[in-house]
Amino acid sequence: MELSAEQAAVRDLVREFAIEEVRPLAREADRTQTFPEGVWDGLANIDLTGLTVPEEYGGYDADRLTYAVVNEQLAYGMLAVATALSVHCLVTTCIAEFGDRPLRERWLPEMVDGRPVGAFALSEPDAGSNPAEMTTAARREGDEYVLNGKKQWVTNGERAGVVVVFAKTDRDDPGSVTQFLVPKDADGLSVDKKEDKLGLRASDTTALLFDDVRIPAENRLTAEGRGLSAALSVLTGGRIGIAAQAVGLAAAALDEAIDYAGEREQFGRPIGEFQAIRHSRHDAGEPAAAAASMAKYFAGEGAVDVAGEAVQIHGGYGYTTDVPVERFYRDAKVTTIYEGTTEIQKKVIARELLD
Ligand SMILES: Cc1cc2nc3c(=O)[nH]c(=O)nc-3n(C[C@H](O)[C@H](O)[C@H](O)COP(=O)(O)OP(=O)(O)OC[C@H]3O[C@@H](n4cnc5c(N)ncnc54)[C@H](O)[C@@H]3O)c2cc1C
Repeated sequence: MELSAEQAAVRDLVREFAIEEVRPLAREADRTQTFPEGVWDGLANIDLTGLTVPEEYGGYDADRLTYAVVNEQLAYGMLAVATALSVHCLVTTCIAEFGDRPLRERWLPEMVDGRPVGAFALSEPDAGSNPAEMTTAARREGDEYVLNGKKQWVTNGERAGVVVVFAKTDRDDPGSVTQFLVPKDADGLSVDKKEDKLGLRASDTTALLFDDVRIPAENRLTAEGRGLSAALSVLTGGRIGIAAQAVGLAAAALDEAIDYAGEREQFGRPIGEFQAIRHSRHDAGEPAAAAASMAKYFAGEGAVDVAGEAVQIHGGYGYTTDVPVERFYRDAKVTTIYEGTTEIQKKVIARELLD
């Protein structure tokens, strides 16, 4: 799809930022499992922390294509940064779409400025692909809700200042899932185990514990029982972002492999001249299919393949932390897991095609 002049300008700006400001920090951030907060400040400076926020709250109000382009370019620099931003954007989208005016006014302008960072707590230890099995409960008491339970795999879990939380107003009713906005400093809310992950190591993924967390009833974002359909609707947009991230990561891996294949000599010539290496020059990503699930499925699996080939082209050096392709290889895998695994995307696609 052709980009407009404005979309192309955004792409160029973010690409330059990714190459100049993000990529040089990726190796160390991965090694120390530390999110580069200076990069977050930089994202705020170029208005990306308000990417999907309506203009009346100071945001950029990006269309879907711009959103995808930003995700692609940031992932070219570091997937962990693109992931953190996409989750922050999920949260601002929930507040903008489902929150009433006082909530929007309270949170969105600050989030546009970069902090508080947002987190999105849907998954639980025993409820991943099927969130309807969640057990986190929200009990109404007067003009408050009281939340109890445990959320798992929360991206930005440590860094966040505000969390969109899904909980059942009736634990025995799978149809009672409701969406709430919970300030991270609420009494009874604590950060539990931080995951020590295969890839995406600069992104903080934590559990969150809710122990009699009281929030005002105004912080309910959806009507009781409407939380899951709201979650699935914002996740459709989220999946487009993840698909774009997978393409950006694959492009970075491909570029590294092409450079290396041109430089590395064996048998007296660059390895890129050998037929077997030429076969490995996959396209970094096919055009995204119309459906978000198809795009995520295709791009995620494609990124894993391309990153694997990039390691292969680097030979033994590709298996060391001296080169970025080993990180691309580790990071790529998560794009086939989070925001719905490959198998779940196939289920969605089959359902749409067959029903
Ligand atoms: C790094 C990272 C960050 C994440 N960030 C967030 C976040 O910010 N917020 C959040 O809420 N969640 C987040 N997640 C959770 C993520 O969305 C879940 O891990 C994912 O939905 C899968 O759930 P699960 O891990 O419980 O696996 P399970 O659901 O237990 O799946 C295990 C396996 O079974 C397969 N499977 C399950 N059901 C079916 C089926 N019906 N048909 C075929 N196969 C099936 C799956 O595809 C998978 O291969 C994150 C996960 C990771 C790894």
